[in-house]
Amino acid sequence: MLKWNKPICPRIFKKVEGNKAKACACVAMWSGGGKFHVSAGGHAQYIVDLELRTCSCRAWDLQGWPCVHGVTFLVFLLLTLNSLEGQENVETKNMKSTMAR
Ligand SMILES: [Zn+2]
Repeated sequence: MLKWNKPICPRIFKKVEGNKAKACACVAMWSGGGKFHVSAGGHAQYIVDLELRTCSCRAWDLQGWPCVHGVTFLVFLLLTLNSLEGQENVETKNMKSTMAR
């Protein structure tokens, strides 16, 4: 029997991985504060709240794990923090402090 060494259970890990694949079709933009605007193509748009860990689609709230939009935000967060590394101006400092919460 294989030992599972991830911080979340295999069933949830598989669902989050599935959402990660779907997140490629979404675009996230910082809306200020701890909120992010996620466009899912067409007219579908959602607000992800970093502090509350919720999404306006309500799937994150109901399921307890990040929905496609939440995963899009997490990918956006990682890419943005990597790209801001070494840059120090007022806007990047505000964004970094918001994301670090
Ligand atoms: Zn969502």
